[in-house]
Amino acid sequence: MKNMTDSNMPLNDGNMAVGVSQQNSDRLKLGTVLLASSASLRLAQQTPSVMLSKMLPSKQVNSFILPDDIIKNMKDKIKETKKLKIELGFALCIQNSKMLSDKDNQINQKDNSQIIKDIKKGTDCVGTKCSIKVGKCEEDQIYIGNYHTHPRSHPSMSITDMVTGCSEDIECIGSAPFNTIRCFTRKTSESQCIEEIGPFEAEEHRILEKGGNIRSILKSPKTIVKTDIIKLLKDISQYETDIAKYHKNRFKLLNENFNRTDIS
Ligand SMILES: [Zn+2]
Repeated sequence: MKNMTDSNMPLNDGNMAVGVSQQNSDRLKLGTVLLASSASLRLAQQTPSVMLSKMLPSKQVNSFILPDDIIKNMKDKIKETKKLKIELGFALCIQNSKMLSDKDNQINQKDNSQIIKDIKKGTDCVGTKCSIKVGKCEEDQIYIGNYHTHPRSHPSMSITDMVTGCSEDIECIGSAPFNTIRCFTRKTSESQCIEEIGPFEAEEHRILEKGGNIRSILKSPKTIVKTDIIKLLKDISQYETDIAKYHKNRFKLLNENFNRTDIS
């Protein structure tokens, strides 16, 4: 949270400086008469900064801004994930500028914010399928991606997350064990991204399922005793080799196709 505020400081300070120097020059022109009303001048100096701080971006990812309230929602989902131990999330949306009123468009043009767009929260999603596009946006919004939590792992993209992310503008992940949020944006073309990553998705499902099976056997002495121990040891050894290869390949695909931004 501190970093997000710090990253906004130069913009905030810059805008404040314009306001103060403007008022100082006005004050010189009007002379001593206005000195009596210096209290109201101070109030005038404060008001724009309060307004600005409400409008200022919390965290910028490419041409999108993650406002404070969205980051708070993301953190809340991490808290809930710790309790429920399942993936949770929501769709990430932006306002469709074609549906804005003329008045809103004028404001956008004035502050140049038509290039940088505020992310809005879409519908919530629950369950492991959350990493797939299940969240939806309002009718006057455009779907740009998803946020979802990982109950047990890093805020890093699985192959499935990457395949989903190939067709999105932004994919954000919150990690319950590490209490961190990270957003990913594609740096290759959508077709190149899918072409490179898609072929590894089935292999990921196979290896994660294998890991799940081994863990369920190792969960209790009863299931271990019932198992062919020699075969189990061989399976574990093979799994360790396979999972190391899988992660190496996953990191390679991630670095080649996505940029990452730490949110908190
Ligand atoms: Zn995921």
